[in-house]
Amino acid sequence: MIQFHQVNKFYGTFHVLKDINLHIKEGEVVVIIGPSGSGKSTLLRCINRLETVSSGELIVDGMKVNDKKTDINRLRQEIGMVFQHFNLYPHMTVLQNITLAPMKVRGISEEEARETAMYYLKKVGIPEKANAYPSSLSGGQQQRVAIARGLAMKPKIMLFDEPTSALDPEMIGEVLDVMKTLAREGMTMVVVTHEMGFAREVADRVIFIDQGQIKEDAPPQQFFTQPRDDRARLFLSRVL
Ligand code: ADP
Ligand code: MG
Repeated sequence: MIQFHQVNKFYGTFHVLKDINLHIKEGEVVVIIGPSGSGKSTLLRCINRLETVSSGELIVDGMKVNDKKTDINRLRQEIGMVFQHFNLYPHMTVLQNITLAPMKVRGISEEEARETAMYYLKKVGIPEKANAYPSSLSGGQQQRVAIARGLAMKPKIMLFDEPTSALDPEMIGEVLDVMKTLAREGMTMVVVTHEMGFAREVADRVIFIDQGQIKEDAPPQQFFTQPRDDRARLFLSRVL
């Protein structure tokens, strides 16, 4: 579903991603961890071309992400993204936030978009908030709306960039629970997170990135008990 072949990325002269090789299969849940500034967000953002790669090849669902001929809108329709800060439209209700893109981008009717939105609002556990404005919701609820909004586009891939990092501790669980459900249902997911419990429980693979390089790529059981890389070991000793 996602293939990085020898991908490099520079910001000016700064080499942020170095020879990234990473293959993610349909239905896999891959958790990316690593120190701040190591390139995790950049790697994620290359997948839906919020960033362009400098060299190498990146193929997502059969589309060459950096080929000029690739329909970038089609690519992005296949990929939902959830950010640390929920990025909901403050002047729109929850329902409007969720129905906007399916109507505009996928061109489906308002009625169908509403039905779909309600389906996903139920899935994330807050159908009663359909007509509320984001500012009246808790952080955990806003993030669940953001996930429902992503899902309403019926993507093949969901990207999560530290989705619980901005939340109060008591709200982290409700967001992780929604993500666990998605994972169990077979969604292809790439998740940048510091939640090691989630990684252990849900990830098929854990990727450790340091200074723009993949230093480990292992099943959680192996990664958490016997990391091979020194930096990964050091990192784990700090976060666990
Ligand atoms: P992470 O998500 O692992 O914290 P990022 O991918 O956000 O790391 O950033 C990796 C490095 O690239 C950091 O040193 C950051 O300062 C730098 N960086 C990120 N975005 C840009 C940008 N748009 N322009 C220049 N440097 C950037
Ligand atoms: Mg980041």
